Amino acid sequence: MIETPNKLLQAHECEALVITCMDFRFVAATYAFIRDELHIPTFDLFAIPGAAKGIAEKNQYVLHVPTLAKALHRIGSIILVNHERCGAYGISDPKQELEAHNRDLRKAKSILQNVFPDTPVQLFFAQIGDREVTYLAVE
Ligand SMILES: [Zn+2]
Repeated sequence: MIETPNKLLQAHECEALVITCMDFRFVAATYAFIRDELHIPTFDLFAIPGAAKGIAEKNQYVLHVPTLAKALHRIGSIILVNHERCGAYGISDPKQELEAHNRDLRKAKSILQNVFPDTPVQLFFAQIGDREVTYLAVE
């Protein structure tokens, strides 16, 4: 049994939709980043390989999820988190990899802002350190 506040279980709205890679190496770190550094305690979570990649490639299922989150939970913002050494990208050169992620993150933001012009979209790229993950804001 996992104790969960009744107030949370009765809620119908949350602050954000987080779209991140499914990669298990980042699950705990990304949750902590959203909660503790962005100060967003409630969010819908959509974890898919490559995160922004599916939106940038206009995958219809992926594009449907933000619409659902908006309709069902009235999300106030969308947060996209891509990460270094992502198998969905499979790019070994770090510079080329960063360029590909930044390109897809920005393209995804543009696509989302066309559909949801009043919903802020934040972009992050998670970099792997020796013993930590650093979340860089992408403008
Ligand atoms: Zn990944």
